[in-house]
Amino acid sequence: MTRFIDTHCHIDTILEKTGGTPAALFEQITPDLEAIVHIACDPRDFAWGREFLLRGDINGVKIYGAFGVHPLNAEKFCEQAETEILEYLKLPNALALGEIGLDYHYPNYSPDLQKRVFIRQLEMGLELNKPFVFHTREADDDTFEILQKIDSEKVKAHIHCYTGSASFAQKILALKGTYFFGFTGAVTFNKTATIREAAAAIPLDKILLETDAPYLAPVPFRGKVCTPAMIPNTAQVLAGIKNISLDDLFKACRQNTERMYGI
Ligand SMILES: [Zn+2]
Repeated sequence: MTRFIDTHCHIDTILEKTGGTPAALFEQITPDLEAIVHIACDPRDFAWGREFLLRGDINGVKIYGAFGVHPLNAEKFCEQAETEILEYLKLPNALALGEIGLDYHYPNYSPDLQKRVFIRQLEMGLELNKPFVFHTREADDDTFEILQKIDSEKVKAHIHCYTGSASFAQKILALKGTYFFGFTGAVTFNKTATIREAAAAIPLDKILLETDAPYLAPVPFRGKVCTPAMIPNTAQVLAGIKNISLDDLFKACRQNTERMYGI
């Protein structure tokens, strides 16, 4: 079987819930897990992310990462966070700037501040020539407006945990930049027909596998702490949507991961 990569997870947050060490976590996980991309998106957790990335390989699982300030942490974006992002993105296994974007789900976060922090980090990534990891939730119009402004062939991004519509995905795919859409356990839930419709409409060569662990454990693990070991459950549903074998789905996503992240 093709080994798989979890292209988006939060290992420190998993360990906060399960206890134990990264080594113990990866020991329990199937040898089919080739690598993970750990996302450090709160300045408070950047130093942990750096130490974690420096380990490179844990029990045969390759460790990669991304650094950026999540929209719900926008008030923590400051000069020091900016300096640390620039510094830590120099690590050879730091692949991208993110997750960054807009999240209007909760009423008490300022959209204006989120936009400023998003735009500043887009400028940083373009200067560094780094791909992006985007988080967009209930903010499709504003996200699109900003992406249109910076659009060029230079932009490459993973829109993580895609929960938007098929038509919004088509709008993004019409931009000059290169965009990939990450699907999590959310695609397996009963009530998420719109996510499955989007997955059906997005071309197979634009799809990435991710967990967003510890969140969004796929069926039949709902309510449990999600880990990268649960990728096959999400992959199985995507293979069904695309009407291909599980191994062909893994192969396609593995190639897409290489095109997105160079790994
Ligand atoms: Zn995430």
